[in-house]
Amino acid sequence: MHNTSLITRRSVITGSGVGLLAMITGCTNTAGPDDPATASPPQGGASGEWSYEGASGPQHWGELDDEFTTCSTGTAQSPIDVPSNAPLSSSPTTLDYTVADFQARDTGHTVELHALSPQRITVDGTQYTFKQMHYHAPSEHTVGGTSYEAEFHFVHQSDDDALAVIGVLATAGKDNAAWSPVIDAVPATRGGNSPEVTGLTLTSLLPDSLGHYAYDGSLTTPPCSEGVRWLLLQTPIELSTGQIEDLRSVHSGNNRPTRPLNNRKISQTGQ
Ligand SMILES: [Zn+2]
Repeated sequence: MHNTSLITRRSVITGSGVGLLAMITGCTNTAGPDDPATASPPQGGASGEWSYEGASGPQHWGELDDEFTTCSTGTAQSPIDVPSNAPLSSSPTTLDYTVADFQARDTGHTVELHALSPQRITVDGTQYTFKQMHYHAPSEHTVGGTSYEAEFHFVHQSDDDALAVIGVLATAGKDNAAWSPVIDAVPATRGGNSPEVTGLTLTSLLPDSLGHYAYDGSLTTPPCSEGVRWLLLQTPIELSTGQIEDLRSVHSGNNRPTRPLNNRKISQTGQ
């Protein structure tokens, strides 16, 4: 049940022309949760107002707007509970993230971090450009039924508008210095501010091991569009309880419940 999972980190250090190439091989130990992607949610409007509870909550998303019907009729939806014995992906993935500046924006449902210069990855020969990173607390994906404190979605889009999302789970543990500038920017979005995070490489936010589960799913927010390629990292990152609280103090409970796996197979995408 062990598939080799390979993600290549190719971090380019801006200004020096120095490139680093590291090959990271992941190996299945336990199952990891999948991460759903969240595109920028629709804002405002008499129809299409959605939330995470009550009459406009996830059970009713498909009824709220004609464009949201996939939320209730889709059969390849996200998030999912990843079976604990699921294999890791063997698809070649390259991260070409560079040192960049970012801007944080509160969408009303989460806080997104947008890059101010293009950041790219390549999955199975297809290049995707980073759109934004945002969080859910607690996690949306579960692994073997286990939920995590938070889940981060690194959303990427190809020239053909296909989406690939890297999902990162977070557990409570040690203070995470790499994440500090990002988490500091989250509460700073209150009051309509859009703080910048400067000199950040997205790769620094990822765990050392990039072994991941892959599956074909959907956005986890309306309109719940399918055809999203999910790469859920098996290894969670650690954040301190204070860092987690900083996230939750701005948005919490913004997690869609898991959806049925149906006939999808983990790490066998493009079926
Ligand atoms: Zn999301």
